[in-house]
Amino acid sequence: MVERTLAIIKPDAVSKKFTGKIIDMIENHGFNIIRMQKLRMAPEHGQAFYAVHKERPFFGELVEFITSGPVVVMALEKENAIKDWRTLMGATNPAQADAGTVRKLYAESIGKNAVHGSDAPETAQEEIKFFFHDL
Ligand code: ADP
Ligand code: MG
Repeated sequence: MVERTLAIIKPDAVSKKFTGKIIDMIENHGFNIIRMQKLRMAPEHGQAFYAVHKERPFFGELVEFITSGPVVVMALEKENAIKDWRTLMGATNPAQADAGTVRKLYAESIGKNAVHGSDAPETAQEEIKFFFHDL
C-alpha cells in the first residue's frame, strides 16, 4: 500500500552538512519527496511535536536539541513508507544501528541521532499535518 511518512533531518546532521547525503539515500531507496522545508522549530513547536515524550527524563534535552538549529522536514511517499523509512534510519541508538543505515553512518549519539521518522499510520498523518497543513 502506498503510504506517507514524515522524515526530519535533525540539527546535528544539518550542521554537519549531511543533508544532501541523507536525501540521496532517501531517493535511492525509492521514496518520493512530496514536500520539503528547511526551518528552525520554536521551543513551543518542539514541545508540541514531542509531546508524546513529555514524561520521559530526556524531554527537556530533546526539545533543546531539536530547536538548537535548522532542520529539514520532508513528507515521503512510497509503498510501506513508514516501516521502510524506519529501517533505512536504523535503531534509535546509533551504536545498535545496522550497517548502511542513516544513523549508523551519520548519528553521533542516542540523543543526537540525525533523523526522525514516524512510527505508525496515525502518527505519520498527524506529524505530516503538523508541518504541512494542507496534506
Ligand atoms: P525514535 O526517534 O527512534 O522513534 P523515540 O521515539 O524512542 O526514538 O525517541 C525520540 C527521540 O528522543 C530519539 O530519536 C532521540 O533523539 C531522543 N531519545 C530517545 N531516547 C533517548 C535517551 N535515552 N536519551 C536522550 N535522548 C533520547
Ligand atoms: Mg519515535
